[in-house]
Amino acid sequence: MPEMPEVQAHAERLTAQFGGRILTRFTPFKFTALKTAVPPPDDAYGHPLVDVGRRGKYVLLRFEPVTFVVHLMQGGRLLADSKLSKKPRGGQARFSFEPVERDDGTIDETALLLTEQGTERRAGVWCVPTVDVLTAAPLDKLGPEAGDVEPDELAVLFEADSVRIHGFLRDQRKVAGIGRRLANEVCHRARISPFATTKKLGRDCAATVVDAMRACIAESLGDERLRDDMSSSKHRQSAVHKRTGEPCPVCGDTIRAVEYSGYTVNYCPTCQTGGRVLADNTTSRFLK
Ligand SMILES: [Zn+2]
Repeated sequence: MPEMPEVQAHAERLTAQFGGRILTRFTPFKFTALKTAVPPPDDAYGHPLVDVGRRGKYVLLRFEPVTFVVHLMQGGRLLADSKLSKKPRGGQARFSFEPVERDDGTIDETALLLTEQGTERRAGVWCVPTVDVLTAAPLDKLGPEAGDVEPDELAVLFEADSVRIHGFLRDQRKVAGIGRRLANEVCHRARISPFATTKKLGRDCAATVVDAMRACIAESLGDERLRDDMSSSKHRQSAVHKRTGEPCPVCGDTIRAVEYSGYTVNYCPTCQTGGRVLADNTTSRFLK
């Protein structure tokens, strides 16, 4: 799933390509694509796209009256669409704009297409009054931005809950923008066990995690900004994520895994758990 750096860099590319274009139509291809009934998408027709922003893992297409909040989920993408076919493959919804003349005299009718591949059709669009967008569903439940949260604020959030740090980092209501890859990377960078309990971490550890989040996000965002389009997961860099059985780039110890349905926790015993190898059902087959 795209995390904060992928979504942020993509939003910046979309602003560069579509900023200022006048919306003429929003077309949902699936009944489930538009999650809201009021206000209607029509409220944005005739208005220029102010910019494409981001909150957590959501993309925000801002028009003056309303903002379209888009969640890409696992396999969703927002793509420049110049084919304009009636039934685009995997198409969930399309934003159509007034044609504009390019410098070379040709006409640009490129639309913005939300697609979702795979069987889980969960990507969606919420149409929200722009003045309320940060305080209305679906953004109202999000915690502070993972890249902006301050140590004192994070320490309070740690203290308020007794959960494992890996789960805490992936919980968008705690901090927004981190998913499975960055949760693994942040714990490794901070040299803490992914299974450490947040309530016991304290202020110093919150400061370490803040530094780790900022460093991991900055690194990924730097990579992502060099790309022409959003990376697929296999192109994203990692120190431990999806590197079960490989040597830790910091200390050379073997990276271990604990598997859950839907995701894998990767960690380095020497860097993170005082050398302790946690109960696991996958590494054995890599280490025989
Ligand atoms: Zn290590």
